[in-house]
Amino acid sequence: MTIKEYVASEKLRLAEEVKGMDHVPCLAIIQVGDVPASNAYVRGKIKDCGEVGVDARHLRFPEEIAEEELLSEIQKCNDDPSIDGLIVQLPLPKHISEAKVKLAVDARLDVDGFHPLTSFVPCTPKGIVDYLRSEGFDFTGKNAVVIGRSNIVGKPMAHLLLKENCNVTVLHSKTKQEDMAFYVGHADLIVVAVGRLGFLDERFTYKPSAVIVDVGINRNEEGKLKGDAKEGLPVALQTPVPGGVGLLTRLSLLKNVLIAAKK
Ligand code: NAD
Repeated sequence: MTIKEYVASEKLRLAEEVKGMDHVPCLAIIQVGDVPASNAYVRGKIKDCGEVGVDARHLRFPEEIAEEELLSEIQKCNDDPSIDGLIVQLPLPKHISEAKVKLAVDARLDVDGFHPLTSFVPCTPKGIVDYLRSEGFDFTGKNAVVIGRSNIVGKPMAHLLLKENCNVTVLHSKTKQEDMAFYVGHADLIVVAVGRLGFLDERFTYKPSAVIVDVGINRNEEGKLKGDAKEGLPVALQTPVPGGVGLLTRLSLLKNVLIAAKK
C-alpha cells in the first residue's frame, strides 16, 4: 500500500473511532506570527482534524507577543477542560524560548510528545514505525541506522527502534564519511533526517533488501519539495517526498489526540 492509501484508510478508521467516543476530541493549536511554512502546516493539521471529526481550535498570536503572555495563554489552555491536546507550532520568534514553551505545555496535553514527562510518542517516529509495521516489516534483530540526532526525530526514532528490538546506530554531523558508508552499507533500515538535498545517493552502497525512510524536507533549484535521499535508489522500499513521512507525522498527531481524549 502507498503511504497515501495507508493514511487515507487509517483516517477512515479514526473517524469511526471518534463517532464512538463520549465527546468530540479537541486539539488546540497555538501559532505565533505569520511564517508561510507554519501557515501551511497548521492548515494541514486543521484539515486532518476536520476529516476525522476532531475539533481544531486555532489560537493565533502576533509575532511581537511577549514570552510571558504566550506562557500565560498556554496555561489558559492547560486549564481548559474542553481541550484534550495542545500543540505550539514551531518555529517561534527569536525572543521566545522554545525550551520554556515546551515545558509550559501540560504533559497530559502534549500530543506532540515534546515534554520531558510526556507519555506521547513524538509524531514522526511513531508514524514511521506504525507504517513499517503495517507493511509487514519485521524489526527484530534488524540493523537500523538513524542519520540525524535531533530531539524531535533522530533521538526518539532511535529509542523507538530499540524498543522494537532493532540494532540501532545513530549517525550525525560528526560521523566520519568512511563510517557513514560502512553503516549505511550494512543497514536493513535507514531513517535519514538531515535536511540536505541528495544526502543519500549512489555514492553509497545499499543492501538490495534495505528500506529507506526519508524524513528530510528540502527544496531543489526549481523550488520543488525533495527529501534527503535521491529518488530511485537500489533498495526494496524508499518513502517518497512529498507524500511520505510528512503524511505519517500528521496521522500520528491525530492518533495522539484520540489517545489524549480517551484519558
Ligand atoms: P535538525 O535540522 O535539527 O538537525 C539535523 C541533523 O542532521 C542533526 O542532528 C545533525 O547531526 C545531522 N547532520 C547534519 N549534517 C550531517 C552530516 N553531514 N552527516 C550526518 N548527519 C548530519 O534535524 P530535524 O529537526 O530532525 O530535521 C531534519 C530534517 O527532517 C529537516 O529537513 C526537517 O525539515 C525534516 N523534518 C521532517 C518532518 C516530517 O514530518 N516529514 C518532521 C521533522 C523534521
